Amino acid sequence: MKQILARAQLLKFLDGMDQLLMKVFVSTIQNGNNHLVILSGSNDLIISTLLATLKIPVLPNLIIANHLHFSEEENYLVFEPFHPGPTGCPFCPSILCKGAALEAYIRQNGPFDLIYYTGMLGAGVIPNLNKPQNLLQF
Ligand SMILES: [Zn+2]
Repeated sequence: MKQILARAQLLKFLDGMDQLLMKVFVSTIQNGNNHLVILSGSNDLIISTLLATLKIPVLPNLIIANHLHFSEEENYLVFEPFHPGPTGCPFCPSILCKGAALEAYIRQNGPFDLIYYTGMLGAGVIPNLNKPQNLLQF
């Protein structure tokens, strides 16, 4: 099972994404009002493993993703979808609606002066998000 984590450590970020993550993380340390939230259709185990490989290991306020963990016997992986049931969103997979998840985070932890959202592999826009005026997607 540890082989999976070793392989995850070999994954690479898109050019510039690692520096962006480290800069935002440092800003969260300098100013507690700044939050870094990773929103991914992947899973939290691989994401946190990958973030730990950065020159400055990044600890986000929250990773919004499906949950993956080792079984107690550590002989298999357990996958738990972020949403336990279908969300009804026509744009997202039924296991994670990014718009609903981000809106819930903002509602529970905001308000925020500015919200920046960027994505990888063409996922830079959340199609169903009720866009607050202070949201910048790039
Ligand atoms: Zn959705």
